[in-house]
Amino acid sequence: MASAVAKLWPEAKFGFGPSIEHGFYYDLDLPAPLEEGDLKRIEKEMRRIAKAAPELTCAVVSREDIRARLAALGQIYKVEAVDLIPAGEKITLYSHGDWFDLCEGPHIDRLDRPFAFKLQSVAGAYWRGDEKRPMLQRIYGTAFWSEEDLARHLEWLEEVKTRDHRRLGTELDLFSVHAEAGAGFVFWHPRLGIVRHEIEDFWWREHIARGYQPVYSPHVAREQLFAVSGHLENYGEMMYAPMDLDDVPYRVKPMNCPGHSLIYRTRGRSYRELPLRWAELGTVYRYEKSGVVHGMLRVRGFTQDDAHIFCTPEQLPEEIAGVLDLIHHVLSTFGFEYTAYLATRPEQKSIGEDAIWERATRALADGAARVGMHLELDEGGGAFYGPKIDFKVRDALGREWQNSTVQCDFNLPERFDLEYTDSSGNRVRPIMLHRAVLGSLERFVGGLIEHYGGRFPFWLAPEQVAVIPIREEHAPYARAVAKELFAEQFRVRCMDEPTHMNKRIKTAQHDRVPFLLVVGGREAEDGTVAVRPRGERGQRTMPSAEFAQLARQLRATRALDVPDWSEAAP
Ligand code: ZN
Repeated sequence: MASAVAKLWPEAKFGFGPSIEHGFYYDLDLPAPLEEGDLKRIEKEMRRIAKAAPELTCAVVSREDIRARLAALGQIYKVEAVDLIPAGEKITLYSHGDWFDLCEGPHIDRLDRPFAFKLQSVAGAYWRGDEKRPMLQRIYGTAFWSEEDLARHLEWLEEVKTRDHRRLGTELDLFSVHAEAGAGFVFWHPRLGIVRHEIEDFWWREHIARGYQPVYSPHVAREQLFAVSGHLENYGEMMYAPMDLDDVPYRVKPMNCPGHSLIYRTRGRSYRELPLRWAELGTVYRYEKSGVVHGMLRVRGFTQDDAHIFCTPEQLPEEIAGVLDLIHHVLSTFGFEYTAYLATRPEQKSIGEDAIWERATRALADGAARVGMHLELDEGGGAFYGPKIDFKVRDALGREWQNSTVQCDFNLPERFDLEYTDSSGNRVRPIMLHRAVLGSLERFVGGLIEHYGGRFPFWLAPEQVAVIPIREEHAPYARAVAKELFAEQFRVRCMDEPTHMNKRIKTAQHDRVPFLLVVGGREAEDGTVAVRPRGERGQRTMPSAEFAQLARQLRATRALDVPDWSEAAP
């Protein structure tokens, strides 16, 4: 692509052109902004060059030679790129025809192999990401070994766009962000508020059943608290500026752990009352640069589904097993597959003795073994304060998201001087575990919207059932059906507006309502409903009581899908 650009714009200057996930980009300094049609022109030139000069050669060059050669050509960015290569590193040059470029290579052996590519978009990009340096034009593209694979990838990208949670957030009236409230702060609309409520309800039930106790801590605390916790020192850049109350600086909290530590040390603790499992849906505030905030996925204030477990070293494996079992249960309920990574002691800058790191790391592995969970190893990926297990979930589009985590902490018990009395009467430090299952409600639900493409499972759907009378005279029966379902706390919408039935059906379909119940004269007479599951899956007429039974079952089991009654189905 770069050689094609050089042919078309001989005065072009070239920046970086790396391969990235799903493709590549190249940063270019061109005499004028690229126009519509330019990408096609470049693609055409690429095809010509691939045919005309398919041979690729590689040469190892000296730093001085290549630097002089690029400087003579006026390639100022490339000269800078050469200077960025660490001293002593081998510098390789790949060339075809009269084009050459710095490249670690090889990405391909010849240019006349059958492969398919597409230049996708152009965006502005500051040279080396520095807003004080020139703004370059970045061309994004992708390449595959076959046209079929390329077509499949482009289709996938379309689907990613269609499922974008910001797009669906507006389309389905789920959430908003407002310039007047500031970037990175999410407003949950009623239709998403109920989804969150259902998730929180599920979350609390699972926690209470597993011996967690709810705690609540304030959003604001004296700055001094975060000096004790070390957040000021290690995390200060992510925290908001202090505010003065009675001439004392206060901060909004970036984490819930200091608050839970304060509760722990309000009185002496005995080994007999451990483990303590304290859970809080704790809202925290962290500074993210305005350039990186993104819908619900990267925000400046969010609610963590947080919990801290205080336990003895002996209890650690069992506590870990309990957390992992909970994570597995919750992630599976939402239909996520995942990979769990055991992150061990970092090589640099970590606290605590080797023995305690080894013990905790072994406890994490033991806990996983107890619940039969496979762990990938992330050597040296631990936090400075202890080892951890991190989860990456895979969504319906095959993308990976980081959310669940369980982390051992040797630091905070020390900083807050947390203790308990062991069975021999000695005062010792408890082990502190931080853990989150969803990560944050904002990020998790933003991801869920995309995972489901706005088609929430029955138990989560903002509206679960739409009752649609065929004509006006069937409205009383429709209202009676809706009322019965509402009495059982189903979220039901009776669509008895005096508009054409097809229009109302379209609206309910647009809103991704899991079930449409269409009722007319016959249904009213028989006490039945014509049930249409979401997504053209056929229709069945059944007594309304039978539908209520089906709805109860889908809700109770948190079923991921509605039944498929289309004729093709077995
Ligand atoms: Zn914590």
